[in-house]
Amino acid sequence: MPKPKQNSTAPESHQSTKPVQNPTNQEGRAHPLVRGGPPGPTAQNPEKINQIRTRLAAWYESNARPLPWRLTRDPYKILVSEIMLQQTRVTAVIPYYESFLTQFPTVHHLAAAPESTLLAAWSGLGYYSRARNLQKSAQIIADQGQFPATYPEIRDLPGVGDYTAAAVSSIAFGLPHAAVDGNVIRVTSRLSAEPGDIGNSKVRQKLTVFAQHLLDYANPGRHNQAMMELGATICLPREPKCPICPVQKLCSARKQGLERELPVKQKQKELFRVTRRILLIQKRDKLLLWKRPIDSKKMAGFWELPDAEMLPKSFEREVLGQFRHSITNHIYSFIVVRSAAPSPGAGFSWLDQQGLTTEPLSTTTRKALQVVKLINK
Ligand code: SF4
Repeated sequence: MPKPKQNSTAPESHQSTKPVQNPTNQEGRAHPLVRGGPPGPTAQNPEKINQIRTRLAAWYESNARPLPWRLTRDPYKILVSEIMLQQTRVTAVIPYYESFLTQFPTVHHLAAAPESTLLAAWSGLGYYSRARNLQKSAQIIADQGQFPATYPEIRDLPGVGDYTAAAVSSIAFGLPHAAVDGNVIRVTSRLSAEPGDIGNSKVRQKLTVFAQHLLDYANPGRHNQAMMELGATICLPREPKCPICPVQKLCSARKQGLERELPVKQKQKELFRVTRRILLIQKRDKLLLWKRPIDSKKMAGFWELPDAEMLPKSFEREVLGQFRHSITNHIYSFIVVRSAAPSPGAGFSWLDQQGLTTEPLSTTTRKALQVVKLINK
């Protein structure tokens, strides 16, 4: 984790109350975020910090959703869930998590899997670099003979950032690292009534330091999950449910009536709307698709339905349906059109029904095939 700026004012939280003394982590040294004293909102009453921890823990024990990855301390399974949850909602991840672990129950199964099998299992979750990085991590762990058990080693795995390393190391190994994602930034900005823009890296760093101070060193994994759960189910972006929040009496934003004003955020980026036509060209029981080259920067090795620009001599017969797909600030409207084309060139292949279920398909192709009911998932 990044080193914080030094602050000459000793934080109250280090001085008098036992549970918030300057902790050492299980790697044998003081956590870098609390060494020397944090700035900003961390200078809070230590008793208040302890109350937040205690109330959060009690609330989480009775209210946590029974998510499948909460039933295990297996670091591999926790890593799989955390990688899947990057950029994907919990409800979408659950069926993929369960089927993925059925197919690849250990790092060794995942490490040895052919890439096309891996991508087919991930197909529909999107952001496929996550799957490739997860497999690279599995290969490193399989070569090492055991899952790394320190924060720096976990952080070094491909595709693992600060948040994922903190989540895995705290949940699987009980290491004292606060997991700080967008939900936790929102919760901490409200708890501390942070007036700064959370798009600003200094403000985020300040809130990260605060999150580290709030961490319950007696049970970092539970605390991190409780913070995430609070952000996901109670401290919601537009409509925080303050009347049922376990820490409402300790929340500075609530006290000041600012819960709906915070966090302060930069203006949203401009949205771009784009319409594209996807061609569905059939020959008996086969469909025409093309495969992205293996050195392609995006979605290498995935199969896609063609568009009209790829097949300039194609002609449209009938509109079959449409769907929307968003990537960052682009909103695409895809129209699926039954078409015909004379002899497609190199790079195209005809796939049968089995190919559609076993080969990795891009997310837009998968959605198009769902629209025309050629696949279910
Ligand atoms: S009281 Fe409201 S704003 Fe404060 S943490 Fe709870 S839900 Fe969020």
